[in-house]
Amino acid sequence: MKKKCSKCGQEKELDQFYHYPRNKDGLRFDCKKCVDDYARTWAKANPDRVKASWRKRHKKNAEQERLYARRVRKIARQACLDHYGHKCSLCESKSYLCIDHIGGKNGDSKYREGAELWLWLQRKGFPDGFRTLCMRCNGVDGFLRNHPLFHGLGIDGVLERIKIAEMYLYK
Ligand SMILES: [Zn+2]
Ligand SMILES: [Zn+2]
Repeated sequence: MKKKCSKCGQEKELDQFYHYPRNKDGLRFDCKKCVDDYARTWAKANPDRVKASWRKRHKKNAEQERLYARRVRKIARQACLDHYGHKCSLCESKSYLCIDHIGGKNGDSKYREGAELWLWLQRKGFPDGFRTLCMRCNGVDGFLRNHPLFHGLGIDGVLERIKIAEMYLYK
C-alpha cells in the first residue's frame, strides 16, 4: 500500500511516513523526506533557537551527571570509612573525616586526594597504607590551607585551624 505525500505529491511506501497518532491512518500527511528537509531548512533559518534548545538539553544532562557523580562519590566515601574506620585514627574525632595516605604525599607523583582518592581506593579494593584522619590531624601534614573544607572560613578561621595543627606538629 502506498500513500501520497501532501507536500511533494509523490506516492511512497507507508514506512516513508512518520507516525502521527492523531491522523486516521496513524501517519503524517507529509513524507519523511519532506519533514526532514523542512526541519533542516528551519534549523538553518533559526540557528539561535537551535542553539538555545541544544544548550538547554546539554544543561539538563550536565545537571544529571553532576547529581550522579555526587552520589557515586558519597557511596565511595562511605565505603572507605567502612573499611578504614569511622573515626580519626589519631584523635578519635568522628567529624570532618578524610582518608590519609600514611607517609604522605611527598614525592608521590600519583598522589590523590578527596573524592578522587575515595574512588581510587574503592577501585583498588581498599589497599593497606591508608587511614582515616580528621581534617585537623590531616592538617598537620600541611594540607590545611588549601582544602575546600576551609573555603569560606575567613582568614581568622583558617589561622585558628593552622594554630591547632601546629600545636599537634610541635608538641
Ligand atoms: Zn514528500
Ligand atoms: Zn584527628
